[in-house]
Amino acid sequence: MLTIEIFNSPDSTNLSIAWFDCFAVDEGLFLNYKDMKIQKGKCLEIDGIFYQSIKCAMRELGQGYKRVVERAASDEWSDYRFVPFRVAYTEKRCTKCGEMKLLREFSEQDVCRDGFKTECKECGKKYDKKWKQDNAEHVKKYRNLPEVKERENETRRERRKSSPAYKINRNMSRSIWGSLKGKKNGAHCEDLVGYTVEELIVHLESLFTEGMSWDNYGKGKYKWSLDHIIAKSKFNITSNTCQEFLDCWALDNLQPLWHVRNREKGNKPMHPKYLIKPEGLVY
Ligand SMILES: [Zn+2]
Repeated sequence: MLTIEIFNSPDSTNLSIAWFDCFAVDEGLFLNYKDMKIQKGKCLEIDGIFYQSIKCAMRELGQGYKRVVERAASDEWSDYRFVPFRVAYTEKRCTKCGEMKLLREFSEQDVCRDGFKTECKECGKKYDKKWKQDNAEHVKKYRNLPEVKERENETRRERRKSSPAYKINRNMSRSIWGSLKGKKNGAHCEDLVGYTVEELIVHLESLFTEGMSWDNYGKGKYKWSLDHIIAKSKFNITSNTCQEFLDCWALDNLQPLWHVRNREKGNKPMHPKYLIKPEGLVY
């Protein structure tokens, strides 16, 4: 990556470090706009020193707006001139942790000068977490507001409807949480069970019986749900890494079953009669 420093004297121009460090031009290399930001503008060159803006120059030189602009626009003042620039940069410095990070490590924010927040996502998360801890009462009150609850439920409903992966992941997460009785320790389902949601989906689809699809996954008369061939209650799960947990949640122990049959089966051993489709099901 080629870095060009358009402003040859950062000290005298009051450029923030974040701004100055991020100059890099390498057009055509970064095709994804998220990885690269192009900024166009005009800077001022006065006596061989570049200033980021007219304001900068005014402040640094103690000159008025009119004088700076008029001189830069006039041919008579050859040491004052506007210089158009076009820079592309791929990373910037986080104002919180001070590290140089790729642009994608920053959340987008329209009101910010370059379209990205000044602090990186990681720092933002830490800040959010701390704020929530410090304002636990407030957060709790807010979350319990009926309109907030309703909005959250609506979002979840929409996502469940549009994405089987989301739905099954959430259901599994809740179920795994239940079988671990809170000992999940913040780990992701996928990390615990050793397969991805996509693999689970492929596995279940391979066992679909007539009439099953992701449109009728759920609880209800003509819906199917995730069944543990050997019931969860038969396992002695003590932690999220014990063999019993892994056996319980192994792909081989999971199958799609019509919800009514799943309830009939309960914690009894598997029997072909539980595969019979619900009465009256038409598709
Ligand atoms: Zn940071």
